[in-house]
Amino acid sequence: MKFFDLGLGDPTLRAAMDAGYRRVMDRGWAILGPELEAFEAEFAAYCGAGHAVGVGNGLDALVLALRAAGITPGAEVIVPSHTFAATWLAVEAVGATIVPVEPDPTTYVLTAEAVAAAVTARTAAIIPVSLYGHPVDMPPLMELAARHRLFVLEDAAQSHGALCHGRRTGVLAHATAFSFYPTKNLGAVGDAGAVTTSDDVLAERLRMLRNYGSRQKYVHEVPGVNSRLDELQAAFLRARLERLDETNDRRRERAGRYGERLRGARALTLPTEANWARHVYHLYVVRTAERATLQARLADRGVETLIHYPTACHLQPAFAHLGYGRGDFPIAEALADEVLSLPLWPGMALEDVDTVAAAILDG
Ligand SMILES: *Cc1c(COP(=O)(O)O)cnc(C)c1O
Repeated sequence: MKFFDLGLGDPTLRAAMDAGYRRVMDRGWAILGPELEAFEAEFAAYCGAGHAVGVGNGLDALVLALRAAGITPGAEVIVPSHTFAATWLAVEAVGATIVPVEPDPTTYVLTAEAVAAAVTARTAAIIPVSLYGHPVDMPPLMELAARHRLFVLEDAAQSHGALCHGRRTGVLAHATAFSFYPTKNLGAVGDAGAVTTSDDVLAERLRMLRNYGSRQKYVHEVPGVNSRLDELQAAFLRARLERLDETNDRRRERAGRYGERLRGARALTLPTEANWARHVYHLYVVRTAERATLQARLADRGVETLIHYPTACHLQPAFAHLGYGRGDFPIAEALADEVLSLPLWPGMALEDVDTVAAAILDG
């Protein structure tokens, strides 16, 4: 059983993507054109945000949002200790200081309470991550940020369409960074990303930063970069966006099925969903102290699993200069040792979920 499938074999999706491909080829306009404009408008409307600004990938979405918000060296930026390394790399890229905070041990995301304890006079921003598809409880975090005048940038690379108290990711923070890496809940067929915000000034700066710091051709107002979402990817994303709620529902249905089958399984912690949240199961992550044994047994039966992520960020060579060591972030370290992602994608057969569950229970 494979871990994931992009679902490009689905005939109706494929027809919509092929039509998008033809529009771009017939028009002969490759970059910063009408497909991107349409996708930005549609994605902003989907989220309920004032603007969506397409960029080259999710990491650039984070970096450019931090730059647009004026986060500079010397500033402290609070990030979760347990996340994909890109969250930390973005802070590093603007030269700011990474301040890791441990996540809630049941939802695996940051809480306002834990963040509050890490705020100092130098704190400038917080990057909560809605990891695996579970949103962050944002209202108390935004209140904390308002009290301390902090910029909140949500990393929603894994939570397109997730709900927090009935509101979608993309409108919960001052700005939200999305990745459209192919396997994400909303995925392109290549690299792509976006930042959503309802702040007009921030959106304008982002548009400038992604395009050589230029608003008018050959007038460079700030030292920008080249990080744009191209027309073909925008066309593919428009076809996917139309189906996002449906594919997220299918993810939830499969997660629910795992939950039914695995409830009560020995020494296995299943994902939880807070009562104010709509989890979109970018990943279905279980936790067990016997991970190596379980992963090997599943592999023996042809079930592919992955680990997100096997090494905590503070123990990665790229962050050695921060001076952290083993024992500094015990929740992140325990998660790195114990999490296991089971196969899940929108087109996965429900019987295949049953097969994976049976292989787990039959230990
Ligand atoms: C995928 C991901 C990113 C980076 O996105 P790319 O498009 O791969 O650059 C950032 N943060 C999180 C949490 C992610 O899962």
